[in-house]
Amino acid sequence: MSDFHKLTPGGLTPDSQVVAAGRPKRDVDAPVNTSITLSSTYIAPGQVGYGRDGNPTWSALEAAIEELEGGKTLAFASGLAAISAYFSTLSRGVVITTSKNGYSGLMLMLRKMQESGAAEVRYVDISNTQEVLASLKGSNLLWIESPTNPALEVADMPALIKEAKAAKIAVGVDSTFATPLLQKPLEMGADIVIHSLTKYISGHSDVLLGSASTKDEALLEKLSEARGLGGAIPGPFEAWLTLRGLRTLAIRLERAQSNALELAKRLSSHPAVEKVRYPGLPTDAHHKVASSFMKGYGAMISFDVKGGPAAADKACASSELVTFATSLGGVESLWERRHRWSNESASIPTNLIRLSVGIEGVEDLWADIDQALKKSQG
Ligand SMILES: *Cc1c(COP(=O)(O)O)cnc(C)c1O
Repeated sequence: MSDFHKLTPGGLTPDSQVVAAGRPKRDVDAPVNTSITLSSTYIAPGQVGYGRDGNPTWSALEAAIEELEGGKTLAFASGLAAISAYFSTLSRGVVITTSKNGYSGLMLMLRKMQESGAAEVRYVDISNTQEVLASLKGSNLLWIESPTNPALEVADMPALIKEAKAAKIAVGVDSTFATPLLQKPLEMGADIVIHSLTKYISGHSDVLLGSASTKDEALLEKLSEARGLGGAIPGPFEAWLTLRGLRTLAIRLERAQSNALELAKRLSSHPAVEKVRYPGLPTDAHHKVASSFMKGYGAMISFDVKGGPAAADKACASSELVTFATSLGGVESLWERRHRWSNESASIPTNLIRLSVGIEGVEDLWADIDQALKKSQG
């Protein structure tokens, strides 16, 4: 059922792909945008059959992500639903090497899998290539989140993926923080890349959705079955909103990244800040590796506030333009102290604030952050 306007193969930059991919065929009087199809069932006999197995609005979004990631794509009800579906395809007792700092929902899921015997999980510093490679012996899966949430560590993905694949170890990447515009894990040889489309790709904090992309037809088949049986399917309206958000991803990310670099620089010399993590800063521990393969440094910053958790909480409660809320990747800047969540990793400092930089005016953002940080010290 997926019949879309064909783009010149290999002929477009990602800036144009986000605008042009997944559009309807250019028949006279055809709509420019894919419509929202609200139907639980389809006229028989046909390919789709029932609404848990397919929907034309999902297909348009999936075609667009496929164009960007370079692999067949399935949309899911959320980022975590995409990860769950993939993990459900793994054998019981699978040995997983992964980052000790990662998305807190995933960390909890891995802990549960470990406790139930579904998996043996080996936690490593994902930015320490030697440590990761040492852990790969006897592993079945290398799961890379990079940059990590919220520590902003960067894995040397080209090196890790190459070594893991040479050793016949499966590689999955959570590329949410980078988006397909900054890194292309499938091109590096990863088996699967997932996104929380909730974040940058939809971009307006009004949707929960996820995706999984792969070049491996057998894996795609398993994921499709897992989605149908697990039932974690996208809503057609959410798929449409995400497609609409995707159209501006390139300019949103460009603006948010330039804001983030400026704010990270200024935060680095702010008297209320102990430490800034942003791979775009030349002084950052991950700058060199990030520069070697990423096309940009993203728009997430983490920093530690002087005065401990209470001061960090006070800063978050004192902002006016920046919103005190969880999540990330929207047009509006959000911040929070990560340890207000009980499942945040123990390795994350208790006074760390994660700042998702939006597309507002950078001077307005700085004025607000500066006044909030000043209040935090009072
Ligand atoms: C938010 C997030 C997820 C989970 O995505 P949902 O859409 O909230 O289910 C997974 N990985 C990373 C890195 C995230 O930031």
